[in-house]
Parts: sequence; structure tokens; C-alpha cells
Amino acid sequence: MDIDRASRICFSPDYATARARFIDACRVFGIAVESHENPRRGPAGEVLATDAAWIGPKDARHVVAMISGTHGVEGFCGGGAQLDWLLSGGAAALPRDTAVLLVHAVNPFGWAWLSRTTEENVDLNRNWVDFSAPLPRNEGYDELAAHLVPAGIEGPAREAADAALAEWRRTRTPQQWLRAVSSGQYDHPHGLFFGGAGPTWARRTEEEIMDRHRLAQRDTVTVLDMHTGLGPFGYGEPISHMPQGSEARERVMATWGESVTEPARGTSVSTIRRGLSAFGWRDRLGERCVFVTFEFGTRTIDEVIDSLRGDCWARRNGLDAADPVQRRLRAAARRAFFPDSPDWNELVLARSRQVMRQALAWAGARR
Ligand SMILES: [Zn+2]
Repeated sequence: MDIDRASRICFSPDYATARARFIDACRVFGIAVESHENPRRGPAGEVLATDAAWIGPKDARHVVAMISGTHGVEGFCGGGAQLDWLLSGGAAALPRDTAVLLVHAVNPFGWAWLSRTTEENVDLNRNWVDFSAPLPRNEGYDELAAHLVPAGIEGPAREAADAALAEWRRTRTPQQWLRAVSSGQYDHPHGLFFGGAGPTWARRTEEEIMDRHRLAQRDTVTVLDMHTGLGPFGYGEPISHMPQGSEARERVMATWGESVTEPARGTSVSTIRRGLSAFGWRDRLGERCVFVTFEFGTRTIDEVIDSLRGDCWARRNGLDAADPVQRRLRAAARRAFFPDSPDWNELVLARSRQVMRQALAWAGARR
């Protein structure tokens, strides 16, 4: 499909529309969809579910998976790329012995409510730690917690909190700031980048999908996890956390080449973090799995963090679909993670088509 047209029809205005379009597109191409229903509901009372579609031979030795909505509201991007792949006839052009697994809205609650986190206010991409072991500590976050999510999101309480944060940042580097705020924390359930107190529904759903499709018995599994909010506007940066010197790391470089960045080498917009989905998938699937995060830039990092503060404040006060302040905060979160402009959409699709083609070409070249 022509990319200009695709960039106008593949991006949905909300979660419910995206879900309906994904299911419809699968139906048109005769693809079965399995739905994992979330126990909660969306702001309009809509059903929330993670929908997964397997395309290609049931016994394929190689699998390329694309995941959307790990961070809820970021699902507009990945959902658009998945729909574009389906509508552009991707299913009819698979290489031999290769299947595609599309996981749509792995955190449907966050997407529907325009939040980055799950119904448990958990950052799914910090949730893959071993909860039977001592949890990681983040002293930097402890110092900032009360100011990041102040008592009031407007007015004097907010101004005092912003002043305290500015004072903290005055004597630290931007890297120290980002590390404290965003590397993950396990002590403030109402805070930003909270990794949780146990496996979330979304994590358990991903595990169920991995097992149901017997991914641990395939020769190779290549995962593209689609995110937004970091880096230059519209550019999709492939971020690899595969261990230096590992076979998986070599595969990542062979698949996507020199555009791959690595927090371990300091070449990425992202930093070293805990509890990532990449670690969880590799724990379950082993060395056969490579897992790369694609980060599509949207706004400045300050705008993004600002929107997360508003989201956490609303979550702590109890989500209310009708509350005007919360509606304004949700609109800000949507803007921060989904510019919703034809030029950004087109950049996303151009890059998504490229990185998906590269992943399929790598799988198709196996013997
Ligand atoms: Zn993300």
C-alpha cells in the first residue's frame, strides 16, 4: 500500500478503534486472532484485551514477533505499524519456514486510558525482575519521589515541587537526573517507572503467549517491541540490551546493522535499566531469542516526564473518565507519546517497514 495513504489510515484515534481495525484486518486475510481479555474496562466501558495473531506455518522454525503497547499509550505507534504490515500484504510474502506473531496491545489498560503503565500502575518494561529475590533499590528516586508526584498537580504545591526538582538538577548531570527518574524503582507504587510488587497481568499474558505458541521450541525468535517518547522526532532507534559478546548480539548487528545502539556502550538515547521485557523474554526463551526495542521520538524528554507526572497524580487520586483536569492530563500524555500528524506517521511506517523487512530477511536466510 502507498505509504502516504497508509499513514492516514493505519493510525487509530483511540484503543477501541485500533483493536477493531486489527481484528477486522486479520479477518479479511483469514488470520485467526486469540484474545486475552483484561479484567478491567476502558474509560467508555469498553472491553480491554491483548489480541495475538499467528501468521504462517504452525511449525515454522523461525518466528518474527512485533509487540505494540508495552507502554499503553505508546500503542498508537506499534498498532499502526502492525496494521500497515497486514494491509500491505505482509502475510502473503513470508520467507520459507518463517512465521510472524503480532501481539496487539500487550498493555490494553494503559493504551485505553492514555497511560504508560498497566492497571497496577506498573511500568511493564521494569516488571520482569525475580520477585522472590531482593528488589533493586533506587536511592535517587527516593529523594525525588515526593516532588515528582506532588499533592497538587497545579497551584502552589506544584510550584514548590518544581522548584525542589530544579534545585536537585542544578547540582547533577542530565544523566544522573534520567537515571534517578527513569531507570526503575520498586518502592513507590504511585510513582513513575514503578516496576511492581509481582508479575502484572500484562507480563503473565506475554508468558502465556510465548508458551501457547511454543516459542521455546523454535530455532530463532526475533522480537521487535515498539515504543515512543525517546530520541529524534519520528526516528525509530533500534536499542539492544543483548549481552556484549553473545550470539544474540551478533544476530542483532547482522539483522539491523550499524543503526543499532546499545546502552552498555553508551551509544543509545536509552540507559541501563532493570526488569526489561528483553530480559524476561530471554530468561524464558534462551539464546534463540533476540529482543530489540524500537524507540520512535516524539517530544522533548521534559515534556514526556511532565506528562508522566500528571498521569501518576491522576492514578493516585483515582481515575475518573469525566474529570476535566484528568481529561486535560490524558490529552497531554497522548500528545507526548503520539504526535498524531501525517508526517510523523509516515516516518514511523517507513522505518517499521524497513526493520520488519530486515528481520524477515534474516530469518529467511537461515538453513
Ligand atoms: Zn516505551
